[in-house]
Amino acid sequence: MDKSMQRAYAKINIGLDVLRRRADGYHEVRMVMQTVDLYDELLLEKRAEPGVVLQTDNRELPLDGSNLICRAADLLFREKKITEGVKITLTKRIPIAAGMAGGSADAAAAMRGLNELFGLEYSVPELQKLGVKLGADIPYCIVGGTMLSEGIGEVLSPLPAPPEAFLVIAKPDINVSTAFVYGNLHADLLQCHPDIDGMIKALREGDLRGITDRLGNVLETVTVREYPVIEEIKELLRAEGAENALMSGSGPTVFGVFREADAAKRAAQAVEKKGLAKQIFVTTFYNERSC
Ligand code: ATP
Repeated sequence: MDKSMQRAYAKINIGLDVLRRRADGYHEVRMVMQTVDLYDELLLEKRAEPGVVLQTDNRELPLDGSNLICRAADLLFREKKITEGVKITLTKRIPIAAGMAGGSADAAAAMRGLNELFGLEYSVPELQKLGVKLGADIPYCIVGGTMLSEGIGEVLSPLPAPPEAFLVIAKPDINVSTAFVYGNLHADLLQCHPDIDGMIKALREGDLRGITDRLGNVLETVTVREYPVIEEIKELLRAEGAENALMSGSGPTVFGVFREADAAKRAAQAVEKKGLAKQIFVTTFYNERSC
């Protein structure tokens, strides 16, 4: 095999709670992760010269060793002592620094692709164990779907997929650093915590209303204070008929959940018309396993 094509799916958090800050600086989380039908594409091609060559259609991204794709490839090459090289062509669609784990999804897709291309025979848990060295969301991104994510994000338990719904995903034109948001979160002072157990029950019962009633993300306490446009988008999506709306991850991306595709399309147009976001997608939950 000379080539491998991989999709790197974005995630949203339909529930995100932070339990405490550990002594080592990591935060202990309890999150419900959900893959959405929005993805980057990675074409991996073998090349005789050693090392990783990355190219992309996106001008914002670094192409050197700091790109998570290169870091993932370097890690696998070192572990398996691979002397050949690889060219990776990334078609970027997932908004960057958005709270949708785009970089982690790309790294996970690169790991899956290299596993296939070079016949490395890593099992899924082995790939996840390697991936967590590069980022807490990577073990989740290796498989995707609907998952409860605990620990620092690496302890995963599969959950049933939510019922069909339509999503508007809107990223305001600001970049938010995940480190800034967690750095400014006072986990011990949080007054409200999302009802993650209730969310899990609603997922098990296939109860869309029960799910949307429980959308919650404690990181909004930091990011929304800094960027009020997030709350404006949430309010507009609700006014346009969303069952509910929430910021994903550390933000600033907002998603709204709709029962009807037409309402979702109209809401996306309303967000665009008001100039609240530049990157706007109408999509759905996605529950095919990636691995
Ligand atoms: P998370 O939800 O995991 O916090 P995010 O969606 O907020 O992630 P990313 O899009 O993963 O953020 O990007 C965060 C930073 O990582 C950016 O500053 C970007 O330059 C860097 N980065 C490195 N490699 C990639 C990549 N392949 N795709 C996107 N960003 C990357």
